[in-house]
Order: sequence, then C-alpha cells, then structure tokens
Amino acid sequence: MRIVPLEIGRLESSARTLTQREGRITLPIPSWLIEHNGQTALFDTGQHAELQHSKDRLGPLAPHFNPDLPADETLTARLEAAQIDPASIDVIVFSHLHFDHSGGTAEIPNARIVVQRDEWDVGHRDDLVERGEYFPHEFDLGHDLELIDGEHDVFGDGRVRCLPTPGHTAGHQSLRVELDSGPVVLTGDCIYLEWMLEQMALPRFSYDAEQQLASMRLLQEHRDTHGCQLLFGHDAAQFGALPAELS
Ligand SMILES: [Zn+2]
Repeated sequence: MRIVPLEIGRLESSARTLTQREGRITLPIPSWLIEHNGQTALFDTGQHAELQHSKDRLGPLAPHFNPDLPADETLTARLEAAQIDPASIDVIVFSHLHFDHSGGTAEIPNARIVVQRDEWDVGHRDDLVERGEYFPHEFDLGHDLELIDGEHDVFGDGRVRCLPTPGHTAGHQSLRVELDSGPVVLTGDCIYLEWMLEQMALPRFSYDAEQQLASMRLLQEHRDTHGCQLLFGHDAAQFGALPAELS
C-alpha cells in the first residue's frame, strides 16, 4: 500500500482570507493517490486543467485567487508521470467539493465517487453555486456515485477510512490510511496548515466554526493518542518536504 502526493499546481491568494494573517500566501493544491491491493483511489482531484491558461472559469472567485498550473502539473500529467492511466482510477473520495478539490474530476472518467451526502447536497445549493462556492459542472458529471453518511470503509478491509470532519463545509471529511509504517490522516481543509492546528486558529470563512474546531480537535486526538501523522490540506512547508511516496 502506498500514498503518492500529487501537486496539481498552486494557488496564490490573500493570507487574510485563509488564515486571518496579513500578506499573501501560496498554497499547494494536492491530489493524493492511494494504491492498495491492486486498487487505486484519489483523495480529491485538484484544480481544473483549464486554469493553466485562464482563470475565467472561477467566476466570482477569480479576483481572489491566482492559479499557477504548469502543463506538466495537471492531474493527468501527474498521474501519467507516476505511470498511472487516469482511466484506470477506481475511486475518487472527496474531502469536499470546493473548486480546488474537485476541479480535475473530468480527467478521471471511470471512477466511482465517494462523498458525504451532506456535501453533495450543499454542493448543488443554488445560492452557493451562484456565489461561486461550488461548481457542480466540474464534479457532477455522471460518475457512479456513492453518497455516505458518516464513517466509511473505502476498500472494505479497514485500511482506508473516511472520517467525517464537518465545519469547513457541511459535509467535509478526512481520510485515515493505515500504511505499513503507521497511520496517516489526510486532513483536507479541516486543517489548512500545521500552525493553525497548533494555535487552534480558524480560517476567516467556514461553514460552521464551532463544528470545525471540534473536527480539528478530533484530528489532534488521532495524532496525539493514536500516533497518526497528519498531512495538512495546503501546507507548503510540509508538502514540499514529503517523499515521492509514503508506504
Ligand atoms: Zn475548501
């Protein structure tokens, strides 16, 4: 079993929006490839390949984000560099459906999507779609869909499990993976950056701040009492220091 971190480019933005600190920030946009017993899953699909040329598709969000997506960093290019055919991916697990987590979905034609039902529902809410919080035309493309409610065992043997961590969005989830070297939790946007966990610092925007704090505490407990390594959602320092694969 292994996890391969794939960087689907970066987004540059105001730190204030994301962390309530001053200045600008550059975020890696991860998609995590998980291989287990001949099966493959992606945890999130990164940003849309078209963002390498234009950010027009971001609509109301375009003024707030500057994508940096070279041609050799699209999801397809990253998978092919790892010798994986995008058409062979079995499962996409979404932490949540924001554009930088679900933008590459069209590149993965044959996967079954696993997502919390609450997230799928809010991802189609008219008011949220209108203001650019969700782009259903990027993730609702006719894939087989498995809507889940709560914890879920992705491959049926307990080694890859969805952990609900709502707060950043209504149906946010993290993914716990039992590697041979020990357990890992992919936090998604429950925790953007390591220091935000250390300081229990919330981003400026969340769907439910109290719920997000409770979810952050849950993952802290996975780290402190279960010995889990936490891999944060957008932490450039941590992401840049990861090995090519974790096993
Ligand atoms: Zn998000």
